[in-house]
Amino acid sequence: MNVPVDHLDHRVRGGWTPSGAADAALPAHASRWLSARTGLTPVDTPVAPDSGLPVPESVLPAPVRAVLADIVGAEHVLVEREDRLGRSGGLSYVDLLVRRGAGELPVPDAVVLPGDPDQVRAVVEACASHGVGIVPFGGGTSVVGGVSALRGDKVAVVVLDLARLDKLVSVDPVSRLAVFQAGVVAPDAERMLAAHGLTLGHFPQSYERATLGGFAATRSSGQASAGYGRFEDMVEGVRLATPRGDWRLGVSPASAAGPDLRQLAVGSEGLFGVITEVTVRVRPAPAWERYEGFVVDGFAAGAEVVRGLAQAGVLGTVTRLSDPQETEVALTLSGGWKTAAVKGYLRARGIAEPSLLVIGWEGATREEMLTRRRATLRLVDGAVRLGVRAGETWRHGRFSGPRQRDALMDVGMCVETLETATYWSKLGDLREAVREALLRSLTAGGRRPIVACHISHSYETGASLYFTTLVPRDPSDPVGQWRRAKEAASEAIMGLGTITHHHAVGVDHAPYLASEIGPLGVDVLRAIKAELDPSGVLNPGKLV
Ligand SMILES: Cc1cc2nc3c(=O)[nH]c(=O)nc-3n(C[C@H](O)[C@H](O)[C@H](O)COP(=O)(O)OP(=O)(O)OC[C@H]3O[C@@H](n4cnc5c(N)ncnc54)[C@H](O)[C@@H]3O)c2cc1C
Repeated sequence: MNVPVDHLDHRVRGGWTPSGAADAALPAHASRWLSARTGLTPVDTPVAPDSGLPVPESVLPAPVRAVLADIVGAEHVLVEREDRLGRSGGLSYVDLLVRRGAGELPVPDAVVLPGDPDQVRAVVEACASHGVGIVPFGGGTSVVGGVSALRGDKVAVVVLDLARLDKLVSVDPVSRLAVFQAGVVAPDAERMLAAHGLTLGHFPQSYERATLGGFAATRSSGQASAGYGRFEDMVEGVRLATPRGDWRLGVSPASAAGPDLRQLAVGSEGLFGVITEVTVRVRPAPAWERYEGFVVDGFAAGAEVVRGLAQAGVLGTVTRLSDPQETEVALTLSGGWKTAAVKGYLRARGIAEPSLLVIGWEGATREEMLTRRRATLRLVDGAVRLGVRAGETWRHGRFSGPRQRDALMDVGMCVETLETATYWSKLGDLREAVREALLRSLTAGGRRPIVACHISHSYETGASLYFTTLVPRDPSDPVGQWRRAKEAASEAIMGLGTITHHHAVGVDHAPYLASEIGPLGVDVLRAIKAELDPSGVLNPGKLV
């Protein structure tokens, strides 16, 4: 069984790595700045040890356990306390809070590890016939409660862990297609493709742990989306294990054979079936890459630059604009904002509110990469160039956010992110509305929140907004503090943008789905679920 060493380690569920904050301890200057800026009094709140977490007894009926063991082998039906803890919940802020003792964990009754798509189908059918809930589990990086082991009205709930579906099934370099099993984690997919000179080009911040099946199930979007598209743009075909049997979709690059049913699997969050294989479009791996930093005066001016690039079709592979608040946090925490001299330098060049713009270009040849760069730079007006070092600094730290979150949580901060998207004409209003809602709901008891925002996914018609909020945790009611802020921000989003651009719906966004897709939309989703999953065992309590 090819399961990474830490795969079932419950501490991984309390943070990004077992060593957690040790990977990204807060430098003293960052801690001092945060205290002065937010009112933080650092406290020590590490992940609770195994023994400190309440774990109810498994209620999986013995006959069902025996059936599952027949399908996957007894050694792949795990019911021990630590194994079930290791698959309890995802990596949302509240999930991490609970690991620090703030509330109860939804612990599954068993973890089942099938070894191939046929075993997945057999497990799904067995659970459906015995009324046992199934939570499909890829990397478990959901930040919206997507992998919470909610039992609902089922007799028990099992986590169906796809870790053993870790193979590259086939590659067709002529058509630029690859078929992967759903449990392949993103770095392994890139390694397997690199052997063929190919890349997928999907690099979300959760890259190190998330799976291709999870990306498809949540309509994920990576940092290089401007160059490679969102994950759903890459999906050419899917294989789905449903309680009604195996379902394969996708036979040609385009089709007029009715609605595109592949889209029922993409974004279905495990409610319609378990994705066992994904056929993805792949591209030749680039030989040349270059990242540069720029500073623009204020978010509105920066958004205009990015809109110009998107509408002219000359975005970099990565194009990312931080607002002044995010620019200040990023540079301060990384130690790059060391001296007033930097600000003085920018002020002398007419920049009052520095907004960092990072752009990265790729190409098969140096000339191709530079041609792309020239096309972009023709439209980057009024920006101060910081050069390659600033761009490379961003690239170097592009996956460090989750480790920094661990370190900040360990000293008593509330660190939460949320994302949305809207059309260009409403982008400024949406940013203001969400900022105002978060600041209003979180300013209390001497706590002064920082609300920072960036654009990292841009389209011809609009862009996403990604917010990071930092505020000292309310020690008396940390979950209530989060809930009030989440509700305020979600209400602010309604009517202006989508409730989620790439984190998916899960549990946290479910109350807001109807106002986005209408009651009819919810009825349609329920009807599809009833057809594919008549006993309602697949991922209870999520999406609708
Ligand atoms: C620190 C951090 C940074 C993140 N950054 C990004 C980002 O940049 N971009 C982005 O898009 N997302 C991001 N996310 C969110 C998350 O990584 C994505 O939603 C990702 O797509 C989930 O993949 P996973 O394999 O971990 O899925 P899981 O978390 O295991 O599952 C997510 C959902 O999909 C379902 N599911 C998983 N696998 C399958 C399957 N094979 N069949 C059917 N259903 C399945 C689960 O039941 C669940 O509902 C981030 C999360 C964290 C913690």
